Amino acid sequence: MSPRIKACLDVVRFRSLSSRHYEHGSVSDSPQNSFCQMQQHHPMGVMSTLTLVLLSQAILISLVPCSPSFGEVADAPYFYIVAADPQLLFNQKDDRNWRTTVDHINRLRPDFVIVCGDLIQAPNDAAQWENPKNLEAYDKLAAMYNAGAKQIDPKIKLYNVAGNHDVSLAPTPKTLAWYESRFGVKPWYRFEHNNALFVVLESNLIRNPSGAPDEATAQKRFIDESVSLAKSQRYAHRTAYMHHPLCLQAVDEADGYFNIPRAQRLDLIAQFKDAGFEAVFCGHYHRNAYVKTDNIELITTSSCGAPLGKDPLGFRIVKVYSDRLEHEYIPFERMPEKIELNSER
Ligand SMILES: [Zn+2]
Repeated sequence: MSPRIKACLDVVRFRSLSSRHYEHGSVSDSPQNSFCQMQQHHPMGVMSTLTLVLLSQAILISLVPCSPSFGEVADAPYFYIVAADPQLLFNQKDDRNWRTTVDHINRLRPDFVIVCGDLIQAPNDAAQWENPKNLEAYDKLAAMYNAGAKQIDPKIKLYNVAGNHDVSLAPTPKTLAWYESRFGVKPWYRFEHNNALFVVLESNLIRNPSGAPDEATAQKRFIDESVSLAKSQRYAHRTAYMHHPLCLQAVDEADGYFNIPRAQRLDLIAQFKDAGFEAVFCGHYHRNAYVKTDNIELITTSSCGAPLGKDPLGFRIVKVYSDRLEHEYIPFERMPEKIELNSER
């Protein structure tokens, strides 16, 4: 039995014992017998039925805080930034938009930044990584991205997420190793901040594990572990991040270039829901999109490098309060001087 369930049951047991003690003047070893005796002999037999009803309600109330949707109250409100698809140099002559992104980050001073993949514009085809001349070009793009990232105040941590243009649409051990060595981060990992859990996944492997089946299995294990962890700890918030959107319009939409295939999508959503995740943040679409299913939001953020729809260049601000997350995509052209945090709804 997990310590948390045991703690809950202990609370229930303590309340039951306390109530019985109050009703009977002493605690019996055999509550069922004492209840029968009380029904037969106690002049307050009717009251004892009422007591049991109240006790059963106390049990329900005691169990509610054990649900993964509820957690400890976090520290003071804070905010972080979710950006997506700087994708150097897709539809861009230089790294100007990435530099602008970094300038806004340094001015606004979030607790941290997560970039939801396609950091650069390498090809979708993993075979291209076999050509040393191509690798030179990808190295240059990675160096350009890292040069901008280096300008971010070291107090503001940057968390990278891998996209299809960083590891290909069917990653191989080689493309995954290249990504890890160039961007200094594993393709999947998790971190905690102010008693909240953040899980980062590599969505190309979820869509197509054929080029790196062992790595795909390892990530699957990691997802299962992260879900177990999310369920067993009293986190204030639980969120996940990956490049491909789970879906763009509806949970049961058809499979396509821009989403996670239905089978894997439904499995992941079920796992996240079960573990009390509030949101999954993604990129790849170069437009904003939102789907809500039960208590979980599936949020796609437009590009800070090369948008393809009506949403201009920008990124998403995520405000974290003890009882909720609030998020908004803000275009660079109307980025405020300062992010206001207000715990009142
Ligand atoms: Zn992409």
